[in-house]
Amino acid sequence: MNQEYSIETKCVQSGWKPENGEPRVLPIYQSTTFKYTTSEEMGKLFDLEASGYFYTRLQNPTNDYVAEKIRDMEGGVAAMLTSSGQAANFFAVFNICEAGGHMILSSAVYGGTFNLFTVTMKKMGIECTVIDPDCTEEELNAAFKENTKCVFAESIANPALVVLDFDKFAKAAHSHGVPLIVDNTFPTPVNCRPFEHGADIVTHSTTKYMDGHALSVGGVIVDSGNFDWTKYPEKFPGLCTPDDSYHGVTYTERFGKGAYITKATVQLMRDLGCIQSPQNAFYVNNGLESLPLRMEKHCENALKVAKYLQNHEKVAWVNYPGLEGNKYYDLAKKYMPKGTCGVISFGIKSTTGDTIKDTVRFMDQLKMIAIVTHVADARSCVLHPASHTHRQMTYEQLLEAGVQPDLIRFSVGIENVDDIIADVEQALALV
Ligand SMILES: *Cc1c(COP(=O)(O)O)cnc(C)c1O
Repeated sequence: MNQEYSIETKCVQSGWKPENGEPRVLPIYQSTTFKYTTSEEMGKLFDLEASGYFYTRLQNPTNDYVAEKIRDMEGGVAAMLTSSGQAANFFAVFNICEAGGHMILSSAVYGGTFNLFTVTMKKMGIECTVIDPDCTEEELNAAFKENTKCVFAESIANPALVVLDFDKFAKAAHSHGVPLIVDNTFPTPVNCRPFEHGADIVTHSTTKYMDGHALSVGGVIVDSGNFDWTKYPEKFPGLCTPDDSYHGVTYTERFGKGAYITKATVQLMRDLGCIQSPQNAFYVNNGLESLPLRMEKHCENALKVAKYLQNHEKVAWVNYPGLEGNKYYDLAKKYMPKGTCGVISFGIKSTTGDTIKDTVRFMDQLKMIAIVTHVADARSCVLHPASHTHRQMTYEQLLEAGVQPDLIRFSVGIENVDDIIADVEQALALV
C-alpha cells in the first residue's frame, strides 16, 4: 500500500488484509499455542532470532492485526495490545522506568492512572512528581530530576476535560532527554494525533470509544519511533544494554525503531502476562471500523447538549472543551480541530442547599440516560463521582482531588440528540 489513506479508510481497511481465498473478516485465532515441525525452528523464536507465534501470552495473530490497525491510525512504528488501559499505562512507563527511577505526571488524569503511578508504582520504588497541567514552563522544568525517565499526561483528561498543551509538555520532556507519553483515550486518533504534536508514546484504554459498544476491556500502546533511546544509553539501560534474560540481546541494536515495543512484548508481557484475549481484540476491531462516524456524532451531540445546558436556568455550570468560552477551547481547536469527545461535565443549581442530594435526585429522574460506571460508548450515561467512584471522600477531600461535589460526568451517546435533551429536560423539570 503506497498511498497514505485517510483515517476513515485506515479504520476499515488497515490491519488484516486477506490473501486470495482467505476470510474477508479478521479471524479470531482462538488458540493458546502454535505448532512447529522442528525443535530448531521453535528454538530460534526463543532466541529472538526469528519472529513467529508460539504462545498467546506473548503474541497472537488476531491481537497483532488489531494493534497494526491502531499503529497505522496513530501513525507510529509499532504497537501492542494489552488486557486493559491500566495495563497499557503500566507497561508504557515500566518498560523504561524501574526502581530508582522518577516520572512526572499531570495531575489531571484518570483516577485509576493516578493511583497506579502515585501509590502502586511507588511501592515498586518508582518516584512520581505530580504537576498541574496548566503550570508554567518554569514550574514544569523544575519538576525534572537526574533520574527522570518520562512525562505522562492525557490528551483530554478524564473526567476533568483538561486539554493538554502538547507543545509545552513535549518541549520540556525533550529538553530533558525523556519521552512524552500521552494517554489518547478520549479524543482517539480520529480527533487527535499526539505524534504530530511531539508525543513519543501513545496509550489507550480501548475499552472506551475504540470498542465503543461497552463489550470488552482492553488497552494498546503505540510507539512513534521518534524518540532516540541510543542518545541516552545511561538513562535507558533496559533498551540500550544487553538483556541477560535473552542471551544478551540489546534491543536498540537488534530491533532499531521496534526496540521499545519488542522489549515490552518479550520481557513485560512474557513475565507479567497482561495479554488481551483474541476474542476481545476482535470486538475492538469491529468497533474501530465505525469509530470515525461515531466520534463525529458523539461530538456533534455533546456540543448541542452542552449548549442546551449552558442556557438552562437550573444548570450552574458546564464544562466542555468544544464549547466557545471554555478555558481549553483554544487548545482544543489547535490540537483537535475536528472535535474533542462526547464527554461533558456539569453541575445543577441546588434548590435545597444540599448539592449532592439535589444532584442525585436529578440523576434518578433520568429515564433513557443510565447511571453506569463507564464513559465513551454508544449509549448516553451519567456518573456522579461524589456519590459513586469517590463516595468514601469527605467534602473537603473531594475538592482537594479536583472533584467538585456537584460534578455530573455526562457521556453523551449517539442516540438522536433531541431524545437525549428531552430526557435531561424532564429530569431537570422535576428538581
Ligand atoms: C478508562 C481509562 C483508563 C483505564 O482503562 P481500563 O481499560 O479501564 O483499564 C485509562 N485512561 C483513561 C483516560 C481512561 O478513561
